[in-house]
Amino acid sequence: MTPEPTPYTVVDVLLPLGLQSAFSYLVPQDSLRRPEPGRRVLVQFGKRKFYTGIIRAVWQTADKERVRNFKFINEVLDDVAVVTQAQLDLFDWMAQYYCCTVGDVLKAALPTGLKLESETVALALPETRLDPDALTDREYLLLEALTGAGRLSIKEIEQQLDLADPQPLLQRMAEKGLLLLQERMPQVYRARTVRCLQPAPALLRDDNELRLAFDRLKRSMRQTDLLQVVLEAHYQGRTLTQAQALELADADSAAVRALRAKGYIEYKEIPPDRLADVPQHAQQPLVLTQDQDRAVSQILAAWDEEVNRPVLLHGITGSGKTLVYIEIMRKALAEGKQVLYLLPEIGLTKQIIDRMRGAFGDAVGVYHSRFTTAERVESWKRTLLGEIQVLVGVRSAVLLPLPRLGLIVVDEEHDGSFKQHEPAPRYNARDVAVWLGRTHNVPVLLGSATPAVETYANAQNGKYALVELTQRAVATATLPALELVDMRTQERNRLSYGLYSDVVLDALRDTLARGEQAIVFRNRRGYAPVLVCDACGHVPRCEYCDISLTYHKHSDSLRCHYCGYTQGNTKSCTECGHHVLRPEGIGTERLEEHLTELLPEARIGRMDQDTTRGKQAFAELIQKLEKHELDILVGTQMVTKGLDFERVTLVVVVQVDAQLNLPDFRAHESTYQLLTQLAGRAGRSSRPGRVIIQTRKPDHPVVQLIQQPYKDFYNFELPLRSQVGYPPYSRLIRLEFQHIELQFLEDECRRMGRLLREVYRDNLLGPAFPAIARLKNAYRMQALIKILPKQNPAKVKDALREAFKRYLAEAPKKTLRIIVDVDPRQ
Ligand code: ADP
Ligand code: ZN
Repeated sequence: MTPEPTPYTVVDVLLPLGLQSAFSYLVPQDSLRRPEPGRRVLVQFGKRKFYTGIIRAVWQTADKERVRNFKFINEVLDDVAVVTQAQLDLFDWMAQYYCCTVGDVLKAALPTGLKLESETVALALPETRLDPDALTDREYLLLEALTGAGRLSIKEIEQQLDLADPQPLLQRMAEKGLLLLQERMPQVYRARTVRCLQPAPALLRDDNELRLAFDRLKRSMRQTDLLQVVLEAHYQGRTLTQAQALELADADSAAVRALRAKGYIEYKEIPPDRLADVPQHAQQPLVLTQDQDRAVSQILAAWDEEVNRPVLLHGITGSGKTLVYIEIMRKALAEGKQVLYLLPEIGLTKQIIDRMRGAFGDAVGVYHSRFTTAERVESWKRTLLGEIQVLVGVRSAVLLPLPRLGLIVVDEEHDGSFKQHEPAPRYNARDVAVWLGRTHNVPVLLGSATPAVETYANAQNGKYALVELTQRAVATATLPALELVDMRTQERNRLSYGLYSDVVLDALRDTLARGEQAIVFRNRRGYAPVLVCDACGHVPRCEYCDISLTYHKHSDSLRCHYCGYTQGNTKSCTECGHHVLRPEGIGTERLEEHLTELLPEARIGRMDQDTTRGKQAFAELIQKLEKHELDILVGTQMVTKGLDFERVTLVVVVQVDAQLNLPDFRAHESTYQLLTQLAGRAGRSSRPGRVIIQTRKPDHPVVQLIQQPYKDFYNFELPLRSQVGYPPYSRLIRLEFQHIELQFLEDECRRMGRLLREVYRDNLLGPAFPAIARLKNAYRMQALIKILPKQNPAKVKDALREAFKRYLAEAPKKTLRIIVDVDPRQ
């Protein structure tokens, strides 16, 4: 009897490389760790590179032929799955829905620290002689450096020897036996913690101990101060980092060591994400208003009826939606579930995080785009292990492992930052959340004062349940009064003070006189959008984009806001040499300068991309506003979201018109949302608020609708969308084709257009040039595919993939760059 042939164990491995499918590898019989979906494996891909991949599936076969070409894995890296089955399913779905590869999704989801990639290192051989006659100059220099260092990575060689691409040189030298090349995995991730100081428990046991301690420290001021600082923080329920404590006590690390040696203080190592936003002061727990209480019951009742139906919580700004979320979250936590709380990408998550920490303490974990890779890995592990029960995060947090997920909240669901534009996957975290909820029977709560039109439509047609909050939570807080200033009559009457109308200036002065604060908004950074030559009218443009350069006065430069191109010459016209260039139009920098001249006594701050580059800059501005060290904050849309400050009673919109004219089917919607959110910043306490909008189009219906109930805006907008068949009357896929050569692009797009039109007929618009036809040195054309309600979106996308295949089959050698954007924002 012949023995059963040993079955081969095969793993399908996903690699974070933008590849469409998984690759199969064999697992050796004596593998130390068992292969299991979701665990990482180290595999070789290509000639020499090693990558970490994720096991998608494990299967057995006895068919030797089938596995003949499979390589062996090098190693299973984990003892437990680091990616859950639910995530693997999610990644598959995202690749399908957003027309990208699973590899793209994996790249976006896995923190760098988890997706190790090998690097090539060169090793010195002990017996190599440095013989200048037998070596070229470059070989000699390299060997010299290598003998000194022992080993060098490619990157180090590039830097030290200033070589652009040392690979071929290294290869040749390795063949000649001058050195050895090896693949090495970079430093594996190590958990990072921050050292904090806390009083030793013995010290806290009774007052006597304390008194004794201070007695003994009498001769050291520094140590006394330091201990005092640490104790005080402890009594306030805070933990100070060593650095913070030293600064407060004006002591040095010697004092720390001394106190520790005496047994008065201890170290405590804390992961940075838990530290980042330790609440500064304990908060009074709020009692739900009747309105909020009703909303909570309605939400729970809706899920009792059907858990798979998302609920839209539509509550006006200041209606206290956060407290409703917290109440609902509390219920999920009580059942031992994890909660995912998604919020827009803004530096200002601190206020929200404080409130979440106030409610749920250490159960809260934060996931932010400014995190370092170590911090990301830390969050990943802690959600996977369930240590983080409430994950508060931006867009990409939806991709984290949440094995016990029991509730998803999407705050400000309409916000544009939930959508990723570049690179693929071009996903919308809100929509991904809804899919996750439906697939896993997890309730989903979407909240907004100004819902996306599609979301509200879903709440109208019954796909979502609708729960409303129509009053501000603080009884005395009322919606601010809205005033429109017609800039046309202002100018006619010569009452205008440049950028600000007299109405606005008076209002600002009043606000200052009352000791209150104001926000001045303009959606354009820099000093002026263009610089015009006074003699010939020439406007400097970007070298790489089809757009004029913005003038930045502070750095005295002209900059492209699309590609970052900067030009230093702001003094003379490049066309005619004339020496007067005139700034035209208004940016935040100019607004700030102008205000400083008009109101010299006011303390003015500016918040835009230029002033918030540093990690702390944003937080510092917020803190200044909070502490009333600023009277006026000038800024871009950064100032529109989430700010909740009692003293802010005036909001000024300097110019709204450009916003309304954007070539975007969402221009009305985004303007309404922006202005309503902005107006919501004023009058959040008992002080009455005012909102003043300067405009040349006071009669524009959208301007007129601001502060009218959202439903009125919706009823105005819906018929317009219906006329052109845009969402919610269709779904869209936007295609973008790019190439550096204009002619080639046009020719290829004509061909592509013919191909696509065969499939989509009237549901295809374009390809055509968008408003900015050249970006970052590439020309681009766009096309739009409409998916009608009666069509099956999956089929439409299959057809698209099919069409691309046909195009590529007969495409010339050089090809277009093709970008597919499903459910585009604009
Ligand atoms: P929204 O997110 O709906 O704009 P918030 O949740 O930020 O509103 O709440 C607005 C303000 O009302 C906050 O300052 C909050 O502290 C306060 N607030 C909310 N609910 C209550 C309540 N039940 N009692 C007292 N104050 C409340
Ligand atoms: Zn540019």
